[in-house]
Amino acid sequence: MKKLIYILSFVFISLLILSGCASKKETAKYTIISTSFPGYDFARAITKDSKDFDVKMLLKPGSEMHSYEPTPQDIINISNADIFIYVGGDSDNWIEDVLKDINTDKTKIIKLMDLVDVVEEEHVEGMEEEKEEEEEVEYDEHVWTSPINAITIINKLKEEIIKVDNDNKSLYEDNSNNYINELSNIDNEIRSLVKNAKRKEIIFGDRFPIRYFVEEYGLSYYAAFPGCSEQTEPSAKTITFLINKVKKDNIPVIFHIELSNGNIAKTIADETGAKVLEFKTAHNISQDDFDAGITYVDIMKSNIEVLKEAIN
Ligand SMILES: [Zn+2]
Repeated sequence: MKKLIYILSFVFISLLILSGCASKKETAKYTIISTSFPGYDFARAITKDSKDFDVKMLLKPGSEMHSYEPTPQDIINISNADIFIYVGGDSDNWIEDVLKDINTDKTKIIKLMDLVDVVEEEHVEGMEEEKEEEEEVEYDEHVWTSPINAITIINKLKEEIIKVDNDNKSLYEDNSNNYINELSNIDNEIRSLVKNAKRKEIIFGDRFPIRYFVEEYGLSYYAAFPGCSEQTEPSAKTITFLINKVKKDNIPVIFHIELSNGNIAKTIADETGAKVLEFKTAHNISQDDFDAGITYVDIMKSNIEVLKEAIN
């Protein structure tokens, strides 16, 4: 009998140890959650080929970032994540409320707008007036649209990832360096494109979320709305201003952004004979592009192609 008890307790203890190991293995996998595509893409690039990290995006591919509503499950996932990345602007201000209410002791919170220098949202000539109640200073949240900012963000994010998993430090360093090299090539290409271009002005028949991009490369711009505007119907005055601008400055391309119906750009194009092209701002990508593993670098390469037509 004693022997049986001994064997049984041995089996029991072994099972405990085994199950302990099993659950330990599961929790050894770290999770990074990003609200939108840029943070997701950068974290995915840094942790490439690492089995220890799972990188997730809250926003569904193809959906609009500015109208995102978190589910209760999203909130649980955020509190369980090792690293949580958000932008920090107007479009995801629900996050700061959520973060106050949940326990994020084990979660490193990274706000992209804290990692680079921010500029105020700008209202250029001809843009639709904002119907705003409060006269608050609003910083432009689209920091990721400059490849130089993307490099800064990747370097800082890499440090946080290494803090979580120092064992694979050299993998994360190598991955970051490779991605930064690609971004530096993109940066050089855009710089020489703009330097040798016929014109340095672009026109968006849409919202204008790429302020950081144009500031970086010395382009000027006109657009229907500022970056995060909720308006979609411009006044006749705004449309007329943009049409006249296109005619006067001989602008060959009118841009619209991704996930937009492109109607304003089409209207301007119909009146002027300019061509309508899409400039990708990388807030989010389509489901097909997501499934195909399209990256921020791919998006910028596509932007270089459309920019060539727009400024030459
Ligand atoms: Zn935006």
